[in-house]
Amino acid sequence: MTPERGTLCKGTAELITRVGDGIIVIRGVPALVCDRCGEAYYSAEVSRMIDAVMADAHSGRLCCRPLAAGEVELTG
Ligand SMILES: [Zn+2]
Repeated sequence: MTPERGTLCKGTAELITRVGDGIIVIRGVPALVCDRCGEAYYSAEVSRMIDAVMADAHSGRLCCRPLAAGEVELTG
């Protein structure tokens, strides 16, 4: 791997992840985004919020659109 030379800038990312047979898109996730490769880095706090959303999605408590992909805003 080449050394990481990008600059991390505060921003928001869109997290796309698989849940069961579907896919959910979590929008507006606070992250540090690399200006070179676009990779997003999440804080421990944000990771916990993502985990909570994922847990809701897995248990069916999250109201997703009845499509292959649901979208949800990460509001904390
Ligand atoms: Zn990078």
